[in-house]
Amino acid sequence: MSKKQKVLITGGAGFLGSHLCDRFLAEGFEVVVMDNLITGNLKNIQHLFGKDGFTFVKHDVTNYTFVEGHLDYILHFASPASPIDYLKLPIQTLKVGAMGTHKILGLAKEKGARVLIASTSEVYGDPLIHPQTEDYWGNVNPIGYRGVYDEAKRFMEAMTMAYHRYHGVETRIIRIFNTYGPRMRLDDGRALPAFMGQALRGEDITVFGDGSQTRSFCYVDDLVEGIYRLLMSAETMPVNIGNPAEISILDFAKEVIALTGSDSKIIYKDLPKDDPKVRRPNIDRAKSILNWEPQVSRTEGLKRTLAYFKSEIYGVPQV
Ligand code: UDP
Repeated sequence: MSKKQKVLITGGAGFLGSHLCDRFLAEGFEVVVMDNLITGNLKNIQHLFGKDGFTFVKHDVTNYTFVEGHLDYILHFASPASPIDYLKLPIQTLKVGAMGTHKILGLAKEKGARVLIASTSEVYGDPLIHPQTEDYWGNVNPIGYRGVYDEAKRFMEAMTMAYHRYHGVETRIIRIFNTYGPRMRLDDGRALPAFMGQALRGEDITVFGDGSQTRSFCYVDDLVEGIYRLLMSAETMPVNIGNPAEISILDFAKEVIALTGSDSKIIYKDLPKDDPKVRRPNIDRAKSILNWEPQVSRTEGLKRTLAYFKSEIYGVPQV
């Protein structure tokens, strides 16, 4: 009898991790989630408890990490990931990117598992080239507030390549650009949940700076598809996954107001330090290597996400 393929998802109770759990269970994998729940929430995976092939372990992967039996794949997604979270949890952010990644790579080596690590567009810092291609080395302030996240992720990539080159571990590196969708935390401080929450409550919309900074937002289902394809591919060099549709934060705030039909006003607050002025992925590598590109438009993705936030705020599912 053939054993089911088994995947460990660190950070599986988080926004992205929980969507990965859904996808890998649907693909017929056995899924083990490890999460210490400092930013993740069991609510994101409560629908999976009791399902065949699903296990949850409350564990901090900066400590020795082990999984019983065979292990085929690891998706390393454990980390605070919103600017508010990593400013509040700077040491944990550095530890999970550095020591956590070391533990995960050690486990992958021991088990002969293929590991995909979640890196980020933050490795490009406040970028001096635009859009960002994978061969750009970035413009990061190591001692700034964002440094705890950016440098942790840069170290993570370096450690991953070292395990690949020195120990022959099968590794994959994804650089994730701004992603949104159901199960984002309303209070994670990011622009999208902040604007939607403010619009739904009729509060002022807080645009930081003059709102001319840009971002490019990818719907979570598109991201998950990109992750799945990268994991199953032979590519060991980093691949950007994100939606290249770029918009200024001010225009984005206006879009959210229009979508919600809110009469909220836009107010301006100080721009946080080291806030990147532009961000947009060049996805040529994802297109050619993975035959991947986003399928969900911002209009459609925002509608789906708004339905989720409405149910969060009003307490009942809204269709
Ligand atoms: N932002 C904003 N108002 C908010 C939250 C964020 O104007 O209430 C801005 C933030 O300064 C940044 C952009 O929106 O320029 C995207 O921020 P987010 O925290 O979503 O992610 P980032 O891409 O900066 O990691």
